[in-house]
Amino acid sequence: MMSKRLQTYLTGLAMTLDQRSLPDLASELREIIPNQQPTKQSSGKKYRLIKNSIECRGCSDIIESKHVWDYVTCKCGAVAVDGGLDYCKRSGYPENYIELSTYEEIG
Ligand SMILES: [Zn+2]
Repeated sequence: MMSKRLQTYLTGLAMTLDQRSLPDLASELREIIPNQQPTKQSSGKKYRLIKNSIECRGCSDIIESKHVWDYVTCKCGAVAVDGGLDYCKRSGYPENYIELSTYEEIG
């Protein structure tokens, strides 16, 4: 099982690769990050993203993206979320936020 810290780091790395126009590498990386997909599979069970949210470590602002075009920045501007429930997109360095996304089991 991948640690939360490693997951958060890899998610940030995937975002960075995206921003550097390396989508192939980014999507390859996303395949090994279990918690950042709209749906995921773990131990034969399937999960669906129900909340796309992070907390900024700088300003303690908790932000949530509610739909695919909902780009929300924290008060201090260090981090942002996007993608709603279609895609867990993050802006900013992974060490600057705490991952708060939630999943529910769908079978
Ligand atoms: Zn902030």
